[in-house]
Amino acid sequence: MSEPEFVRCPQCNTVLRTNHPRYPRCPRCKEFLRKHRYCEHLEAVTQECTHPEVVRPIEQRHPEARATIADLDEHTQCPYFESMLGQLAPTRLQRVLGPVVRVGLIAAIVAVVMLHYFQSSVKQYESVAQQAALEFEVICPDTTYVEQTFEVQCVVRNRDDKEAQTLQLRLNERVFDWFELLDVSPPPQDIRVVGSGRYLQYGNLAGKSEMLVQLRLRGAQVGSYELAVQLLSPGQYQSKVMHYSIDVM
Ligand SMILES: [Zn+2]
Ligand SMILES: [Zn+2]
Repeated sequence: MSEPEFVRCPQCNTVLRTNHPRYPRCPRCKEFLRKHRYCEHLEAVTQECTHPEVVRPIEQRHPEARATIADLDEHTQCPYFESMLGQLAPTRLQRVLGPVVRVGLIAAIVAVVMLHYFQSSVKQYESVAQQAALEFEVICPDTTYVEQTFEVQCVVRNRDDKEAQTLQLRLNERVFDWFELLDVSPPPQDIRVVGSGRYLQYGNLAGKSEMLVQLRLRGAQVGSYELAVQLLSPGQYQSKVMHYSIDVM
């Protein structure tokens, strides 16, 4: 029994490496990929296994008997399983086009504003709106490939008239064990590691303006990794921690 190096998930079209720790589940859509339905030896119309080692003992017992599979979606430990999902390594273009980019938006205060707005409580809307300060958005891919460069974009919008002071981006330090940081743009004024976090320190952000911080990263090893990002403006604002799972295929 040998697995192909790459398979394509028929549910979500992700091409993944079979040595990915989540295999035989698709890391993106969780489809189980090692089941009778995806076996080369399945005769789909009659739902029979055609592998000679499976068929022979059944026929020996009864010449008319068939190796019919009741449930094609049953997970199989069959030693003769051969995946029909085998796929050539994705081309560069597929790698670029493939990953679904996930957007996480932190706008805790703005969300409250919206809520009140839809309850058409204009008074509350106004009172909350006075506090609405920073909106934080993180754009990051959920899949990437070994040695492929990808970007994580962090957008900070200051909706207030007032300046937001000493902005900091906090990333879980372990990210830098899993991913090589190639570049940060714009470069932070300072980078500090405190506890399990790495803080990229920026200056003040003027009122009614926005800032884009782009991190270029590269994964070295197949696996599922967690990226945790938080926006801080000490004494003023702290976003919730945004968690992303990035699968390196
Ligand atoms: Zn899938
Ligand atoms: Zn079979």
